[in-house]
Amino acid sequence: MAEDCIFCQIVDGEIPARVVYEDADVLAFLDANPLAPGHTLVIPKEHHETLGDVPPESGEMMFAALHYLTPIVEDVVGADGSNVAFNNGEAAGQEVPHVHGHIIPRFDDDGGRPVHAVAGERPDLSDAELDDIADSIADSAGEE
Ligand code: 5GP
Ligand code: ZN
Repeated sequence: MAEDCIFCQIVDGEIPARVVYEDADVLAFLDANPLAPGHTLVIPKEHHETLGDVPPESGEMMFAALHYLTPIVEDVVGADGSNVAFNNGEAAGQEVPHVHGHIIPRFDDDGGRPVHAVAGERPDLSDAELDDIADSIADSAGEE
């Protein structure tokens, strides 16, 4: 547990939350400032800041919970779809430094935007640059 972490305090029951799911590794609760009815956060109980810090097993449990809960949340609030996303790191808008996946229910004509709307200006990348990036990622991923 990290001392000043709000989400660790929720895991420990020191701060109340509307918990919707819990198992040995994962906790899910409603976001206190929901972007839509049913806006849910899914966290590993262990404190890790970003996805890259999460050990593989914990990551698998977190994804399993996201996968399990997303259709349930959609169904309960009568959503037409959802955005499931992480603000991963401060540069990406992460405010609580305990990794968490958002399940944000979406409704036809809710006026929201797709995940594509989160990034800044689109880069103008040449084919050679794209090839280079793809090769580098594939090389690094192959080393894991
Ligand atoms: P981030 O920007 O870090 O991805 O999102 C943090 C989310 O946590 C925000 O959507 C915010 O509303 C939510 N949040 C912050 N503090 C609390 C809290 O104490 N309880 C709950 N349930 N949600 C919180
Ligand atoms: Zn924490």
